Amino acid sequence: MRLTCWGAAGEVTGSMHLLEIGSKRILLDCGMFQGRREEARKKNENFPLTPGDIDAVVVSHAHIDHTGRLPLLIKKGYAGPIFCTPATRDLASVMLPDSGFIQEKDFEFLKKRGHTGMAEPLYTAADATRVVDSMMSLPYERPLDIAPGIRLTYTDAGHMLGSASVVLDIDEAGVKRRVVFSGDVGRWGLPIIRDPKPPKGLADVLIVESTYANRVHESPVEAQSMLAGYVNQVARRGGKIFIPSFAIERAQELIYELHSLVRDNAIPQIPIYVDSPLAVNATDVFRLHPEAFDVSERLVRETDDLFRFPLVKYVRSVDESKALNALHGPAIIIAASGMAESGRILHHLRNGIGDHRNLVLIVGYQASYTLGHRLQEGAKEVRIFGEMMPCRAEVATIGGYSGHADKNELRRWVQGLDQTPKRAFTVHGETEQLHAMAELLRGLGVRQVDTPALGQPFDL
Ligand SMILES: [Zn+2]
Ligand SMILES: [Zn+2]
Repeated sequence: MRLTCWGAAGEVTGSMHLLEIGSKRILLDCGMFQGRREEARKKNENFPLTPGDIDAVVVSHAHIDHTGRLPLLIKKGYAGPIFCTPATRDLASVMLPDSGFIQEKDFEFLKKRGHTGMAEPLYTAADATRVVDSMMSLPYERPLDIAPGIRLTYTDAGHMLGSASVVLDIDEAGVKRRVVFSGDVGRWGLPIIRDPKPPKGLADVLIVESTYANRVHESPVEAQSMLAGYVNQVARRGGKIFIPSFAIERAQELIYELHSLVRDNAIPQIPIYVDSPLAVNATDVFRLHPEAFDVSERLVRETDDLFRFPLVKYVRSVDESKALNALHGPAIIIAASGMAESGRILHHLRNGIGDHRNLVLIVGYQASYTLGHRLQEGAKEVRIFGEMMPCRAEVATIGGYSGHADKNELRRWVQGLDQTPKRAFTVHGETEQLHAMAELLRGLGVRQVDTPALGQPFDL
């Protein structure tokens, strides 16, 4: 058996790991490299594998850094099955075409700037839609033989709707071994979704994410009380709250949290706008998957529809979105993109960032080159649509909504496996975090820990 990491190796994005088991080739995830446009495009274009040689693809969850190269794989001739959970399939059916649309836009943008060497977009929305036709959904905890001698079981990773850890029980000529791929490990107590469920039993090989192996987050409970505090302060001074948010999972968690706070009379009755067509579509997918909700949460048990209550309005059309500019009085506007690099949030920021009564509330990770990051760092002026604007609005961050386990939660997850893995590989993290994860694993007794470089093969 051989493992080669072709993405999320020495970095966070591009998750893709190839397992060669005898003559069979199983691909774990087929994610997109994300980051600066041109740099990411180059990395995504150079697809390192021959798609026709792959026997099956096993996807951990719907995030684009885990699924975003699937359309490319199919475009290049992959005709086999793509396994995922039911919710992942449905989320992918809205997220992948959106990603295709962004690829088309990026292509137009780069072509206009005279960049050569690109005959066509990486893939189109139509290419992306075709992926869904190959996706076979497998619920949690339902083992399935996906190839002779290879049995797949998903367990809940607690990271986003439908997110899974992957267990492969392998029988190679009578030699039985187990490979566990953590996927992205979520957190205990996140709204809506269930807690992570580490797969029990002895893993011969563990491939584990490391995003925040050296960090400690606020708890989701602290996050909710911070959110309530900010809504109260800003409503009192008559301002608006702009929340740049990822359209999937984070947006629904915010709606859920605000719903919960309104029901408890912990925040005043101010309108809440979800201004992102992708977030609106994703919310519909959430409604289709109550089986993945955490029934230990009061709101899940006590309401018929987590995402519908009198104060929340879903905005699809551009005209409705523009009309929000004329709003008077306190309001909450949740809009994509999550790092304020593109999307409707930019219009809202242009409109409201100069007003000291307003608040820009950061609730997710901000990469260093993004507008969200500059705001977070306290920039006095920022460029929006090419124009320098004074930043007078308050900017605050709530870290407790992160969907990734911090170091204590990663330790809890590894300990939850019940037996110490024989061998581990740390992936999906920046250098410092990858080393911290390797240390954490050694501290828990894992004898052999490696941090793979891109394309470096390991015989197992
Ligand atoms: Zn993820
Ligand atoms: Zn990820």
